[in-house]
Amino acid sequence: MAEETIFSKIIRGEIPANIVFQDDLVTAFRDISPQAPTHILIIPNKLIPTVNDVTAEDEQVLGHLFVVAAKIAQQEGIAEDGYRLVMNCNKHGGQEVFHIHMHLLGGKPLGPLLSL
Ligand code: 5GP
Repeated sequence: MAEETIFSKIIRGEIPANIVFQDDLVTAFRDISPQAPTHILIIPNKLIPTVNDVTAEDEQVLGHLFVVAAKIAQQEGIAEDGYRLVMNCNKHGGQEVFHIHMHLLGGKPLGPLLSL
């Protein structure tokens, strides 16, 4: 059984977060330490620790992350200029919270993808 993270508490409203969207499948909230003018995390309500743990059962919720990302980008007014969607996996990917999350970053030119 995967261990819950702080994100499960955010989903359940047990700790505060600036939630911008929530439905049966996903929750989206502003990152506590934003790396761009818009930095929102979009996460499945179901606990999936890493991308390595994704199964065929998760296809609907993972597709929904993209639908919600596009909707939020419109709401934030960054859709036309563009933005970046990032999902980190494990140590080399820089993952810190083991509940998969899509970073939605935008609001300025973001520069090259990787800093190594
Ligand atoms: P990762 O490095 O795992 O891809 O990204 C984790 C992200 O979660 C980081 O950008 C970090 O700032 C954010 N984060 C960690 N703890 C919290 C929290 O308690 N609340 C919010 N809103 N964001 C958090």
